[in-house]
Amino acid sequence: MRVVLLGPPGAGKGTQASRLVVVVGVPHVSTGDMVREEIKAQTELGEAIKEYSDKGVLIPDEIIIRLLAKRLRKSDCQKGFILDGFPRTIQQAEALDGISKIDLAINLDVPDEIIIQRLSNRLTCRKCGAIYNRLTMKPRRTNICDKCDGELYQREDDKPEVIQKRLNVYRKNTEPLVEYYRRRSLLKDVHCDDLMTPPEVTFERIKSITESARKEKEHT
Ligand code: AMP
Repeated sequence: MRVVLLGPPGAGKGTQASRLVVVVGVPHVSTGDMVREEIKAQTELGEAIKEYSDKGVLIPDEIIIRLLAKRLRKSDCQKGFILDGFPRTIQQAEALDGISKIDLAINLDVPDEIIIQRLSNRLTCRKCGAIYNRLTMKPRRTNICDKCDGELYQREDDKPEVIQKRLNVYRKNTEPLVEYYRRRSLLKDVHCDDLMTPPEVTFERIKSITESARKEKEHT
């Protein structure tokens, strides 16, 4: 299965993708995680893209497309992948069409006020990247990751002044992709307009959509 997860920053793409991996048996490919790894490793590319990421603006298409294409060529992606954070522009979606067929696009439809509440309370593990939330997904110990004991921190781009900018970037550049995939009959919407809806409830819907798409794919 080749799945694209769409939705504003903080919609829960990362959380849901890591659950879906278990059901579908294909890797979770997050361009945001790839970007943070390059920055952490202080590679030449990492140095070049840090400023964009910290400010919450998009990295130029040609750089991110190259990074993604390289990742999708690896052997673990040959049976499929769950894309989180890519594509984010029409140009990226067209490039992706040139690299691989897409079976399903899931749109996590979450209003701005919920996103702002979620992101300003989001905590990320410095070591393994696991995601928590001070309101809805608390770690067992304050600021310590349940999975690897790493330190939890607030991402530079989850600070209030950057959140609104990222949302504006999403609505302007990425939201048109919802129609892009709808026109190709690949899109399924998952609405979430309650901050306290547990991620498991949203996941059940995502799982059932994915299983139906998988059955349909097997029959065609
Ligand atoms: P994310 O964790 O998906 O919110 O990504 C963090 C940051 O990485 C974004 O704010 C962008 O600066 C950059 N980034 C990740 N994916 C992309 C993409 N597909 N296109 C451009 N920039 C991206």
